[in-house]
Amino acid sequence: MDKPPQQFASDNYAGICPEAWDALEMARHGHAPAYGDDDWTNRASDLLREVFETDCEVFFTFNGTAANSLALASLCQSYHSILCSQVAHVETDECGAPEFFSNGTKILLLPTESGKIRPGSVAETVLRRKDLHFPKPRVLSLTQATETGTIYGPNELREITETARVHGLSVHMDGARFANAAATLGRPPREFTWEAGVDVLCFGGTKMGLPVGEAVVFFRKSLAEEFAYRCKQAGQLASKMRFLAAPWVGVLTDGAWVRHAAHANAMAERLFQGLTQIQGLRVLYPRQANSVFLDLPATTAESLRARGWKFYNFIGESGCRFMCAWDTEPSTVDRLLEDFRLVTSGSSATSTD
Ligand SMILES: *Cc1c(COP(=O)(O)O)cnc(C)c1O
Repeated sequence: MDKPPQQFASDNYAGICPEAWDALEMARHGHAPAYGDDDWTNRASDLLREVFETDCEVFFTFNGTAANSLALASLCQSYHSILCSQVAHVETDECGAPEFFSNGTKILLLPTESGKIRPGSVAETVLRRKDLHFPKPRVLSLTQATETGTIYGPNELREITETARVHGLSVHMDGARFANAAATLGRPPREFTWEAGVDVLCFGGTKMGLPVGEAVVFFRKSLAEEFAYRCKQAGQLASKMRFLAAPWVGVLTDGAWVRHAAHANAMAERLFQGLTQIQGLRVLYPRQANSVFLDLPATTAESLRARGWKFYNFIGESGCRFMCAWDTEPSTVDRLLEDFRLVTSGSSATSTD
């Protein structure tokens, strides 16, 4: 089969990075205990404890929807509520799984600025109703990097989690693109996780170059009690767990996870820089992670798609997302830019509004 061309639709279009693949190759030989009692799983968990410099509890799930919704369910009862941004994946892209696995916990939506939640809106939502008739706020869910490619800094995080704590909320972090945030922040990961008040992190593996799998990392260990039962009941306990774990060992061993994420971010920056040279294009959010968002007229989007490019309409009708991955080549970005110039040339005089 021919190698299909690189696209900008999602970082989960990309393949498996060499470090993950090599670890899988090593793991595939011989016999090992099932259900996570194997050396690969222990090693991957230990490496995560090294990355975060703390004694956290680690679980591996097949995908992010399961990781998020099971983690959230472990933080609340059915009569509680979860606060998250109006564009949060847990709200818009998980088919109600957080509500389902928590037996009906209600999600309360907060307004966002460039995908981020402000501490003030957390307090406002909690204080709006304090009576018995309203589902009691219990969890704050943050996404890092956010759905619109922005990043919370350690101080921003600390401020918002302190507000959460004051109001009795636990803090969940959807880190489907945690690696991209880590690469941008360039600080020890503890500074923007547990030291900044995060109780549980769903650390995305798939989008950073693993074949499949996310890690659920509990910094507040008491919350992890019986979590293994939740995973099993939800069909998320892998019997050959070593194949979920080995790729993590591959990318965590020598820092490949941050290197690959930094590359994806750099490719997004290359795209961003190129786009700013083209007249008439409107970039929607600050470029901080591995994506660029553009407000594209339908005709421009259509012309690009006619030239073979795939990308998502992500925000409203015309907010298009261009996502870079660990393996995105500079030449792929340059070809996209060339086509942008082609399809916008001639129309720029009339479409600069
Ligand atoms: C991709 C993604 C997930 C995980 O999605 P799955 O398809 O369930 O693996 C979670 N949160 C965000 C913000 C994502 O982009």
